[in-house]
Amino acid sequence: MRSWSISVGRLGGVDVRIHLTFFILPLFMFWTEYAAHQGNANGPRDLAVVGIILACVAAHEFGHMFAARRFGMIPKAVILLPLTGVTLYYESRAEKPNPALPLWKREIRLALVGPLVNLALASLTAGVVMAAGHGSDLWKWPFLRVGNLPNSLVWANLYLAILNLLPAHPLDGGRILRSIFSRTMGASAATRRAVSISNAIAMVLIFGGLFSDNWLTMVGIVVFSAAQLEERALVFQWVLDNVRLEEVMLTDFATLSPADTLEDALEKAVHSLQDDFPVVRGSDMVGVISKQRILDALRAEGNGYVQAVMNKIFEISVRQDSLGSAFSKLTARSSSVIPIVEDQRLVGIVTLQNLMHSTALLAESRKLRRDEAET
Ligand SMILES: [Zn+2]
Repeated sequence: MRSWSISVGRLGGVDVRIHLTFFILPLFMFWTEYAAHQGNANGPRDLAVVGIILACVAAHEFGHMFAARRFGMIPKAVILLPLTGVTLYYESRAEKPNPALPLWKREIRLALVGPLVNLALASLTAGVVMAAGHGSDLWKWPFLRVGNLPNSLVWANLYLAILNLLPAHPLDGGRILRSIFSRTMGASAATRRAVSISNAIAMVLIFGGLFSDNWLTMVGIVVFSAAQLEERALVFQWVLDNVRLEEVMLTDFATLSPADTLEDALEKAVHSLQDDFPVVRGSDMVGVISKQRILDALRAEGNGYVQAVMNKIFEISVRQDSLGSAFSKLTARSSSVIPIVEDQRLVGIVTLQNLMHSTALLAESRKLRRDEAET
């Protein structure tokens, strides 16, 4: 799947990615500094400011993620843009209703966490700067400048907090606006209205910025990119919520027996594209095992039986379960295969690999079909 972001690592099981627009930021910094100082740009310090902004965006987005976990949502990936971020979740927001807290209130709380993290960091660093006796420097214009990195840290956080509260979806302010709309209209109508307001704001920022401060143009471009990412995430979410496991499950798959030796199992695995195998005794499913596990066990203890090393605790699903529910089962148990059972009979399996491929394909085809319908 084409995606305009690159993975930079994992944190707590979440894929952390940097969006390609982030790389505009150093160029942009260098260019504005260069213009401001008649050719005396300071490369390493520019990069330090970019690093500060990246760290503040990351802190903001991790704030959202930790709050989301408390609401039962499982983050899958976080994409950092120059001035904001987008977090993708395995589970639908609507799937786990919390009766104590209506959905719109929950979304408002979730949205507020990010800017609050930045405000907290700003106060903390401002406190440190003042304690060091440089309090008066804080108000020297321009606030964000490469010449004073501690000040930049304070102001980057303040700017991010304010910027993300703009009522431009999918920035946090726009999410809050959409949640308020959704009290009186359907969810998709609320999103459409929030998005049209957001597009108007982005236009004003981009063109206004051309005639005043270039940073505004930058903000407008980020709002546009974030909206595009969000829309992609919504298509993904639609697939996760609406596609049933029977539409993607593998029905032609290899199984192992608990009485197989690990060497036999490896031999079978070599002839299969599968990475994970259900272990079946008669018509009963008794465990699951991965190719990797077989290899590790062979390496550590030599030949033995599948029975001894297979994973006996596993989740099962039925044909009608959603893709999203299978994803959360897989991540909750950090297992890699789910048997699909009907009348206690194994009728198919889904693996993490298989789910990820089909979700990406289905999202792409849905987007294509919708684009065709619109033109
Ligand atoms: Zn946010």
